Amino acid sequence: MKLTILGTGNATVTECYNTCFALSEDHRHFLVDAGGGNQILRILKDTQIPLEEIHDIFITHEHIDHLLGLFWLIRMIGQKMNQGKYEGDVRIYCHSGLISTITTIAELTIMKKVTQHIGGRIQLIPLESGDKKQILDCEVTFFDIGSTKAKQFGFSLNTRDGKKLSCCGDEPYNPCEAEYVRDSDWLMHEAFCLYSEADKFKPYEKHHSTVREACELAEELKASNLILYHTEDTRLGERKKLYSEEGKKYYSGNLFVPDDQEVFLI
Ligand SMILES: [Zn+2]
Repeated sequence: MKLTILGTGNATVTECYNTCFALSEDHRHFLVDAGGGNQILRILKDTQIPLEEIHDIFITHEHIDHLLGLFWLIRMIGQKMNQGKYEGDVRIYCHSGLISTITTIAELTIMKKVTQHIGGRIQLIPLESGDKKQILDCEVTFFDIGSTKAKQFGFSLNTRDGKKLSCCGDEPYNPCEAEYVRDSDWLMHEAFCLYSEADKFKPYEKHHSTVREACELAEELKASNLILYHTEDTRLGERKKLYSEEGKKYYSGNLFVPDDQEVFLI
């Protein structure tokens, strides 16, 4: 299974795209979040992920840096449906509270000949914590991360060859996720900035953590591989080096600080 990191930045970045990624197998793609806008279309083009091959999309929560790109996907996929250029349905998974938000924004901002597919070929699938779905022939378990800011879900996915990948959304791991996240081979976790620069970026005010804390946590959870994302973007050219240097002191597994459009084999 291929993991393509589409964006790595936090909500307000301008030098890279907002955090979102795709899991891919056999020309099928499972998109996790969509970033904040129209750039998602260019990034999908650059990473050779055709819209026609995206049939499963998960939105973690309502914040603009995760949600708004979805409306461009609905817009373009619905248009392709009308042109006979998209086969089958698209399934959009999110916690149940988000369904009416997505429907309302879509209906207010996208033409009717596209939004008429909502509830039909554009399926909005409400999730409750603990729900399991089959996506790309893998079992995916969605769970509430227990956010106090805005209700947010993460997920863990078991690949067909027995690997487990967990995504904790854009907030620090919360012990309430333990039963879902434990024994992960791959952990995807936010790191707003370096611990040594916490005074400058103030991650804690925004319910975010630093490289050090994410690494300490991954060590505690014994995750073999850790991918950090949802970061600040002030020195992207040095981010990989600086974050890796700090993180290695606290984590003995494989630490990855990807750039936008970096690809991993899971
Ligand atoms: Zn975010």
